[in-house]
Amino acid sequence: MTPDILFYIIIFILVSDFIIDLVLCHLNAKKFDAPIPEELKGIYDEEAYIRSQNYKKENHKFGLLNGFVTFTATLVFLLAGGFELVDSLARSVSEEPIPNALLFFAIILFASDLLGIPFEWYHTFIIEEKYGFNKTTRQTFITDKIKGWILAGIVGGVILSLIILFFQVAGSLFWLYTWILFTLFSLFTMVFYSKLIVPLFNKRSQIEEGELKTAIREYAEKIGFKLKNIFIIDGSKRSTKANAYFSGIGPEKQITLYDTLINELEPSEIVAVLAHEVGHYKRKHILFNFISSVVVTGITLFILGLFLNNLDYGTAIGVKHPSFHAGLIAFGILYTPISRLTGLVMNYFSRRFEYEADAFAKHTYSETPLIEALKKLSQNSLTNLNPHPAYVFAYYSHPTLLQRIKQLKA
Ligand SMILES: [Zn+2]
Repeated sequence: MTPDILFYIIIFILVSDFIIDLVLCHLNAKKFDAPIPEELKGIYDEEAYIRSQNYKKENHKFGLLNGFVTFTATLVFLLAGGFELVDSLARSVSEEPIPNALLFFAIILFASDLLGIPFEWYHTFIIEEKYGFNKTTRQTFITDKIKGWILAGIVGGVILSLIILFFQVAGSLFWLYTWILFTLFSLFTMVFYSKLIVPLFNKRSQIEEGELKTAIREYAEKIGFKLKNIFIIDGSKRSTKANAYFSGIGPEKQITLYDTLINELEPSEIVAVLAHEVGHYKRKHILFNFISSVVVTGITLFILGLFLNNLDYGTAIGVKHPSFHAGLIAFGILYTPISRLTGLVMNYFSRRFEYEADAFAKHTYSETPLIEALKKLSQNSLTNLNPHPAYVFAYYSHPTLLQRIKQLKA
């Protein structure tokens, strides 16, 4: 395989990936005006349903424009020799592989993030604002960006430097060391995410004594589950949309509830949501997700190792000097179809796990408050009640509201 042929394969992958997204979005959009499914009647009144349809349509148009600009920018950048331009710029500062790669990625990632800012801004301050979801201030938006860049710069910089170092020292075995590094790193973030990363962006507090805490304690005792770490974070700082999630393992395992969830739901409904989260833990979904991501990463890195045996492949993106970082980008694009497939499989499992966690909540607590909670959460975030099955299959990590209610009532 010559870099020339790879170049055309890269173009083909970029174009077909874009078209697949386009087709799926189009299929989904065709169902925007479908009537509300029988079982979900009453969730939206006439006015709210029209609002939800407008919200879907607006997001759809926005998504098309965003996708089109990103796709065009990537293609033009590739065809016009953008990678070579950035590479020679980075090379003019340093020819050493590590600083050279750091600068190369810093420029490319920063530029693509800048390109995305007007879209994020529009989405937050125009669309979400219009439908009453947005709580983010301009100041929060900007500080979030800056914190994100600093965090990505430090973490990404250290990891990339180490990987290149492994490549220089261990040659084709570098994938193994990188795999160990990634595994340790994801183990670390899994355990300490809530403790270290979340506080950078949100305020975290312990749940207060009261009706809710008593209800939670009763549930935890009933199922014999140690639930001492329940935190509330100020999700309302950014959006009215509510959420809850399980994180950590061992003594660090904890449940995080958004304050928006606490404000919107009755205590019994919150316990039901919590029971669902406990279900993820008890049914070993957390463990499964971790192990499968380690395995998938290992396979990906192994193939990357084979690919990087010939650094000339990297020149397929139009750079003159073969390098690790150019090879990494070429590989990243060539690997898209496979990562799409693994994404489909992961989404499939994720949806199955949602059913299992729902069933756990049903059997250890009750389905009625969970159904009520799901309905309220859908209402308050104007969820799409009629997504296209193909769209759900490709992108949804959760079953649709209708599917979940049917399963809970079964
Ligand atoms: Zn879940």
